[in-house]
Amino acid sequence: MIVKQIWTANAYRNFNYLIACGETGDALAIDPLDHEKCLRAAKGEGWTITQILNTHEHRDHTGGNEAMVRATGAKILAHRNAGDKIDDMARGLGAGDVVKVGRTVELEVLDTPGHTMCHVCLLAHTEAPALFCGDTLFNAGAGNCHNGGHPAELYKTFSEQLARLPAATRIYPGHDYIENNLRFTLDREPDNASARAMLGRLAGQDPGRAYVSTLEVEREVNTFFRLTSPTVIAKLREAFPDLPEEPDPRTVFVKLRELRNTW
Ligand SMILES: [Zn+2]
Repeated sequence: MIVKQIWTANAYRNFNYLIACGETGDALAIDPLDHEKCLRAAKGEGWTITQILNTHEHRDHTGGNEAMVRATGAKILAHRNAGDKIDDMARGLGAGDVVKVGRTVELEVLDTPGHTMCHVCLLAHTEAPALFCGDTLFNAGAGNCHNGGHPAELYKTFSEQLARLPAATRIYPGHDYIENNLRFTLDREPDNASARAMLGRLAGQDPGRAYVSTLEVEREVNTFFRLTSPTVIAKLREAFPDLPEEPDPRTVFVKLRELRNTW
């Protein structure tokens, strides 16, 4: 499996992806908003884009579909309930489905509601596993829930699916938000030395050659995986004085998501 992360350099800071089979040159384009950059990258590698995968229905993820289909004839894949939101879907996906690319690549579909209720992530069970997570999980952050999402559902996705993936899983999100997210982590948890060191290292990084984290790293620097940290809970109580003595992780997650909206 060959992964190419494509930095769009747009205002929304989108990352697009190409996933290719090294044997056949077939490629899957994930959320190819910048269809021109994606097509150029595929051409440069000698790849043929045969499938488009939309992680979810938001326009900054689907906006390149039409031009991409026109240029390549690729089939559009997305969550099985997204048919009324995404035009010309050829295949609806559910949990456990497998997306094949060429002869050598197999990606497992995870049904990951929360950012929207029609969101899928793709998981590659390669030696170093890889997760293409759209707007569900970001480096050091979590997707927002104000355009068709639900924080409690997002919590469930984090705790029951993402948190259980192998520690070495490489994280490929839909946007480059790492710098802002690390600042939020440090606002919530000023004693988080890993987040502080990472911000020092990555502030002002070139997103065209972005750092790729792992789930193990996310557990250290992502507030939304750190729901039992005493500092996170104590700081959260400053904003929400009614927070119980030992709040359940779901409550902490939902309150953190609420704070992040105002931040
Ligand atoms: Zn979105």
